[in-house]
Amino acid sequence: MSADAIPSSIRAVVIGAGPGGLAAAAELQRAGVDVLVLDKAAQVGASWSTHYDRLHLHTSRGLSHLPGFRIPRRYGRWVARDDVLRYLALYAEHHELDVRLGVTATAVEHAESGWSVAWTRGSEHGRIEAETVVVATGYNHTAKLPDWPGLAEYRGRVVHSSRYRNPADLGARNVLVVGPGNSGAEIAADLADDGVAVELAMRTPPNIVLRAVAGIPSQALILSMAMLPIPVQDALAGALQRVAVGDLTRYGIPRAPRGIATQQVRDDVTPTLDVGMLRALRAGLITVVPAVASFTEDAVVLADGSTRTPDAVVVATGFRRGLEGLVGDLGVLARTGRPLVNAEQQLAAHPGLFFLGYSNPLTGNLRQLGIDARRIARAVAGR
Ligand SMILES: Cc1cc2nc3c(=O)[nH]c(=O)nc-3n(C[C@H](O)[C@H](O)[C@H](O)COP(=O)(O)OP(=O)(O)OC[C@H]3O[C@@H](n4cnc5c(N)ncnc54)[C@H](O)[C@@H]3O)c2cc1C
Repeated sequence: MSADAIPSSIRAVVIGAGPGGLAAAAELQRAGVDVLVLDKAAQVGASWSTHYDRLHLHTSRGLSHLPGFRIPRRYGRWVARDDVLRYLALYAEHHELDVRLGVTATAVEHAESGWSVAWTRGSEHGRIEAETVVVATGYNHTAKLPDWPGLAEYRGRVVHSSRYRNPADLGARNVLVVGPGNSGAEIAADLADDGVAVELAMRTPPNIVLRAVAGIPSQALILSMAMLPIPVQDALAGALQRVAVGDLTRYGIPRAPRGIATQQVRDDVTPTLDVGMLRALRAGLITVVPAVASFTEDAVVLADGSTRTPDAVVVATGFRRGLEGLVGDLGVLARTGRPLVNAEQQLAAHPGLFFLGYSNPLTGNLRQLGIDARRIARAVAGR
């Protein structure tokens, strides 16, 4: 890693030094392509430095490593947040990647050589020309808050899940967590375990699966079904859910409207891997309530018309891709803000421009980043 002058041209530029960008750089380098990685943050894998303290990978160590360097065995089966950060730093070091930190890519534009990436570093700014650009700025780039009526006037505390650290830091004794996805469910459990009164607001019932069933990671079970038709995957995963999790209707969580695989394909929603929420729910430490409908100055109004006045509202309603500033002028984004292509795919009008990390697969994102990084390197080497 280096802080010296940024070259004005190189064969490949990777934007983002998260797991995706690092994997892409390692694979491009392995394919003999000179590559520079830019990241706006002060460390590699920076998104992991701000996740909540309790977080351990929901995917197993053996199915979460990036290409060419495995996660050390000593980090255990479910790797802790800080060990993920350590692993990513070791990964960049192991592959001797040229990562420039504190450098923000501000625009990707067509140039004679292929592409031009505009960047800033403090008061410095410049451009790098490259034949290949890999955009890996993260699926979870920008915190997303629903457009609730009255939110701007609400005087209470509202914290997005990306800013939640631990119960002591939040310092609230009565919390409304919004959204039963992976972050919301785990944050609710974290607070409940600390004696905080937790209500969990839910719009659509999630598909909940255990992180491991009979010692086998659910990720491995889902992976073993990945080649089957979607309705078959739904049926098998549904049967497993019924046996391992059971009926949660009495706790306010009816059956999810769609099966696990359909929900991923149609709604871009992955199942909630349980790491403590079910225990707290069954012990009466978490109460499920209707979705948030609106806010008044002093209260949260739920979909059934009832109101709440919690010490804090933790909003776990996901993220946006935030790619508009970087590539918005190129016509490469769908209306959802997601790139029209991912991994080795390229649009005919934009050869050499790749996007990595925007697929949100059922089989584990870290695993898929490695697979897709390899596909990109193959496509680049073959150009
Ligand atoms: C709470 C949480 C838990 C997760 N747990 C798991 C799990 O257990 N297993 C799993 O497989 N996946 C998990 N994921 C999903 C996914 O694997 C991670 O989000 C992963 O970090 C994604 O890697 P990435 O490189 O695509 O993006 P990121 O890690 O978000 O990295 C993107 C990088 O791009 C940089 N960047 C952004 N914009 C610019 C710019 N304009 N210029 C320069 N740099 C820029 C950022 O600083 C960042 O370092 C989890 C996600 C979250 C939010």
